[in-house]
Amino acid sequence: MPQQLLGEALPGPLPEWFPRGMALLRDPSLNKGSAFTARERDVLGLSGLLPPHVSTQEEQVARVLENFRRVDTPLERFIMLQSLQDRNEALFYRVIMENPDEMMPVIYTPTVGVACQQYGHIYRSPRGLYVSAENRGQVASLLRNWPYRDARIIVVTDGERILGLGDLGANGMGIPIGKLALYTACAGVHPRRCLPVMFDIGTNNESLLEDPLYLGLRRRRLTGAEYDELMAEFLDATQEVFPGVLVQFEDFANHNAFRVLQAYRDCCPCFNDDIQGTAAVTLAGVLSALRVTNRPMRDQTFLFLGAGEAATGIADLLVSALVAEGMEEAAARRRAWMVDSRGLVVRGRLALAEHKRPYAHEHPPVDSFLEAVEALRPTAIIGVGAVPGAFSREVIETMTRLNDRPIVFALSNPTSRAECTAEQAYAWSGGQALFASGSPFDPLDLDGRRFVPRQGNNSYIFPGVGLGAVAVQASRVTDGMFMVAARVLAETVHDADLAQGSLFPALSRVREVSARIAVAVAEVAFAEELAGIECPADLGAWVEAQMYHPEYVSYVG
Ligand code: NAD
Repeated sequence: MPQQLLGEALPGPLPEWFPRGMALLRDPSLNKGSAFTARERDVLGLSGLLPPHVSTQEEQVARVLENFRRVDTPLERFIMLQSLQDRNEALFYRVIMENPDEMMPVIYTPTVGVACQQYGHIYRSPRGLYVSAENRGQVASLLRNWPYRDARIIVVTDGERILGLGDLGANGMGIPIGKLALYTACAGVHPRRCLPVMFDIGTNNESLLEDPLYLGLRRRRLTGAEYDELMAEFLDATQEVFPGVLVQFEDFANHNAFRVLQAYRDCCPCFNDDIQGTAAVTLAGVLSALRVTNRPMRDQTFLFLGAGEAATGIADLLVSALVAEGMEEAAARRRAWMVDSRGLVVRGRLALAEHKRPYAHEHPPVDSFLEAVEALRPTAIIGVGAVPGAFSREVIETMTRLNDRPIVFALSNPTSRAECTAEQAYAWSGGQALFASGSPFDPLDLDGRRFVPRQGNNSYIFPGVGLGAVAVQASRVTDGMFMVAARVLAETVHDADLAQGSLFPALSRVREVSARIAVAVAEVAFAEELAGIECPADLGAWVEAQMYHPEYVSYVG
């Protein structure tokens, strides 16, 4: 796709390759549907193929919304939006960007979870690339089949830990597709620069293996050296075919997520959103909450429910923030504690996974989360264990007894896995909880007060980080970039947001927030000498100029 189609008007006459007639209407990146002008219809062989009225994009948006709101179930709405994306990309993004609160829970959590569970059953048309265990030795040539040479961001999953839903195999493709749609909607990364990849190395999910409509490889998962070799070949191929492309790892299970990130973070521009993106959005939520409690970071003790990727990533970044305030690293680590399925993670425990060790402190064993709250007296509890109901009434009441304003983050996804609901957190704390969630909860009225809980949504962070990194061709994605992203995100929260219980800005501001994060990330890239370009005179304008806008381009001048 020639560069000029990245959002600008086409200069001069249309090139030979430009599709005409039905082929144009079937190309989602060029199609405008009923909005083709009379002259375009004339010149491009569309006359008679469309109803006579020339719609404005606003009219088309109204039509989509009317249809969308008529549909009953979230899954049907997901399918509807997917078909729109396959038909008319600009209209799809305009609808999403103008209605983020309504649309994002459908294209991403929680609905994308249901969509992934049903993927083989609702499948309509291909999107993204499948790199499978059968492609060993051919991955680079497979990547060359992708029709666009200027992919800048790849989101890849191996489908082993999709949200809190476990191994969904190749059905996990919904995740890279959804995340990349968010890159475009939230940070204006051009759709042509986004490449979703399913790293299909099989599944151990028996019901999928037996499902006649399952679309993935019907074999058990590759493990060990075979897995590592294919991953190495894939990552080498990404850099060979799309030099400098940013790779975002998404929804890998623990045992691969940490290893893969560790192995490649210093070799190519890559990051793991479940570990690093989650960490940054959560740190931002904590910084916002501390604006309310008026207490410094160094007074905080964090207790996690869960000790996986999210917990470890968040704890590492909280520790970095404490260290940045002057605390010794060892002391900072003792401010973060974790409870997993075997109780409090303590030093003496046998067979402790590598990633939990930095948070295994000296302490007698404690079995339950409630007992851990009593014993450690945390200021904040952070739920990332996908155990619904784990923040029980007793837990919230105890937190409220120990703290004037307890920080309660129920981050597990989808909604069915949340540790508690927003209503429970507010009701059981007498309205004192500083609450954030992983999946969205509606605003609610309680004892005459209106609460507007907001999602600790990674979409506040990763699109801006990615945009900033690719805008300056950063050769690595560093922890410093996530730290600055968290601080910028917290700064964008208004006092009026905090007053209604919102620890994050409104989603309607996400593009503005992403642009600010992108600039800050680009500055870190220059400061850490990782940028691949000369620093532009006006970095803000440079980043802004690369953002996609979903308005139609005139094809005939
Ligand atoms: P993970 O599989 O790496 O970790 C899950 C952890 O939960 C493991 O340590 C496991 O031991 C622990 N666990 C399991 N059963 C438990 C029990 N009964 N009691 C206590 N702990 C238990 O997964 P992850 O990537 O860390 O994600 C966990 C959850 O967090 C998921 O639901 C995911 O969707 C959610 N998440 C939310 C956000 C966000 O809101 N921004 C971001 C990332 C992940």
